[in-house]
Amino acid sequence: LLDDAGRLAPTIFAEMSALAARTGAINLGQGFPDDDPPAPVLDAARDALYGGLNQYPPGRGMPVLLEAVAEHQARFYGIGLDPEREVLVTAGATEALAATLLALVDVGDEVVTFEPFYDAYGALVGLAGGRHRTVPLRGPDFRPDPDELRAAFSPRTRVVLVNDPHNPTGTVLDDETRRLVVELAHEFDATIVTDEVYEHLLFDGRVHTPISTLPGAAERTVTISSGGKTFSATGWKIGWLSGPADLVSRILTVKQFLTYVNGSVFQPAIAAGLRLPDDHFAASAADLQRRRDLLSTGLAAAGFDVRDSRGSYFVVADAAPLGHHDAADLCRRLPGLAGVVGVPISAFCRSGLAAEYSSLVRFAFCKRTDVLERAASQLASLS
Ligand code: PMP
Ligand code: GLN
Repeated sequence: LLDDAGRLAPTIFAEMSALAARTGAINLGQGFPDDDPPAPVLDAARDALYGGLNQYPPGRGMPVLLEAVAEHQARFYGIGLDPEREVLVTAGATEALAATLLALVDVGDEVVTFEPFYDAYGALVGLAGGRHRTVPLRGPDFRPDPDELRAAFSPRTRVVLVNDPHNPTGTVLDDETRRLVVELAHEFDATIVTDEVYEHLLFDGRVHTPISTLPGAAERTVTISSGGKTFSATGWKIGWLSGPADLVSRILTVKQFLTYVNGSVFQPAIAAGLRLPDDHFAASAADLQRRRDLLSTGLAAAGFDVRDSRGSYFVVADAAPLGHHDAADLCRRLPGLAGVVGVPISAFCRSGLAAEYSSLVRFAFCKRTDVLERAASQLASLS
């Protein structure tokens, strides 16, 4: 995240997408779909565009989206929210994360995350002046060790930032870990911030459990999500957060000086998406699961040791059986070797764990079937 001079460096996603553009390789690096959003969502954006909704929306977000978020949380998880006080619309989940950390973390406060972690977490903790403590996800299933989780907390812990389903590993938290996060947050008086942008992208019959539904969690949890992944609209940057009204107001105070507001024509469109019938959500997860299977099978046939992806856009593959022990080096050469771009897991790690995970590569499978088939057949040339 930091260059040799200690400055923030360009993100791995920009670097890898530029590599794909330069070499013409298939981009399984940056996680974005090559499909359009569903027709009702596109129609609602067009209607808003020609319907006079082109000026600043209200600071908390447009009522239509605030209400749709509250209805969505009630429909899928039984969570009751007051849309006027307990929901806030943001410029993607990224701004929700930024505003939340800037609002809650003072200089020297500690923020606990798992590791590997989505790269923005490290950068945003740094921008807030916080200290980043990480808990390794270990083993083929990428699970945290309960003792290591406990050891990451201290009296200076202000926030525990959880990402479930998890980028980059594709793992889903187990109930025991969720319960321990809530217990530790109480014990150390920390706020739980939970990034659930992949909440609808779970596989093999799994159902998402928001951490705020655990006993004693809602009163200290900020839940973050986004329309980007659920509706294949990553460029629209419509996100939101929900939680106790006092926390949401503190975060709004920061948010108003970041973007102020955003996306007036896309807010009603994402609201229309959130109101699609249950079948739509189930069908898109099933569709993505088929793509996961296609890429996972292709990677295994090419000689990678493929980890089980339980959710998200991503699958992790170990290149060690192919004789590649430095995934960062492999990823730089992969366009030449196989015409494919992936991201080394070390890009989501800090020093110690980067070495342990040095042969792991993250591939995105949120791509058209024909693209994944082509990638699989090109990767076969590696073995
Ligand atoms: N959190 C995670 C875990 C992500 O993978 C991403 C991006 N794909 C984001 C947050 C950012 O979401 P958004 O594009 O809505 O800002
Ligand atoms: N979240 C996406 C990924 O992990 C891309 C986000 C980005 O480009 N910043 O690939």
